Amino acid sequence: MVRIGIPRALLYYQYYPAWKTFFEELGAEVVVSAPTNQATLAEGSARVVADTCLPVKVFLGHVLSLVGKCDRIFIPAVRSVQNKVYNCSKFLGLPDMTKAVVPESPPILDIDIDVNRGKRVLYQSIYKLGRHFSWNPVKIRRASLAAWQTYLDYREMMSSQKIAPPEAIERMSGAAGEETGTASTCPDSTRATIALIGHPYLLYDEYINHRLIHRLEQSGNRILTPEIVAEEELEQAVKKLSGGAYWTYEEEVVGAGGYYLQNGTDGVIGIMTFGCGPDSLMMDTVRRHAARLKSTPFMCLTLEEHTAEAGVVTRLEAFTDMIYRKKRKELEICV
Ligand code: SF4
Repeated sequence: MVRIGIPRALLYYQYYPAWKTFFEELGAEVVVSAPTNQATLAEGSARVVADTCLPVKVFLGHVLSLVGKCDRIFIPAVRSVQNKVYNCSKFLGLPDMTKAVVPESPPILDIDIDVNRGKRVLYQSIYKLGRHFSWNPVKIRRASLAAWQTYLDYREMMSSQKIAPPEAIERMSGAAGEETGTASTCPDSTRATIALIGHPYLLYDEYINHRLIHRLEQSGNRILTPEIVAEEELEQAVKKLSGGAYWTYEEEVVGAGGYYLQNGTDGVIGIMTFGCGPDSLMMDTVRRHAARLKSTPFMCLTLEEHTAEAGVVTRLEAFTDMIYRKKRKELEICV
């Protein structure tokens, strides 16, 4: 059986269940790299120039960790998943960049995803990918439809059960308990509800964000993430704040930021990385909206490979202290 390696980085958190279904339907075995650790980051960073963004360095580290563990590695070039909405250039060149800087990588299975070129071209790309496993177009079509259904189920599970991608992935593979959701309901009104906004590869990679969600939950806060909001709500929030999406995945930043700033949270934390052009524009849109509203505190946390754990902890403590002071003051006014 052919083993297909999938790096646990970048678009993994958006599409892993769908990719897994597609390859398994075509008779392949899927191998995922282990969670990020110090070696993953150090080895990935050593392959590229210093100003490459942190998530790409981490991605290359995951590719390196799969060398010798799979026969091929899946690296799609996702250009656009919505009409006239474009992805960051790093995603476009990911297969080529990987070939250039990781020559020892197993052969790369790539696919161009660009909905601007029409459905016909998209289907041709899917068939081209599927032909590595089967010459039967019906089988490839069946695998792609099953993958699409898995993607819809995955999104639905996250928004209806209010859970984040890592937990939804575990539940879909039947490996998790039922009552440990990221956004579990909390009857204690003195606890803070904090929304995190940003790309899943930053929010859910515990190594690069220094276990942000875990830390906030341990201090008794209730955490909300972009995936638990219905897609239509996020799209509406993007329209309201920036007139419509320009960047792919803008819903995770501008959409979630706009939505949570006005929907019952005590604070919003934006997570981005140093040197990221798209995120610096998107976070600024959210920051300006928060300043206009003056109702919900907003903090932007910028991560890079030299970000110290102590620095993250200090910023989180200062932000949550401010939220609790505000809540206490509001309670005093009530009584
Ligand atoms: S959007 Fe930013 S963080 Fe993500 S890959 Fe592009 S440059 Fe890197």
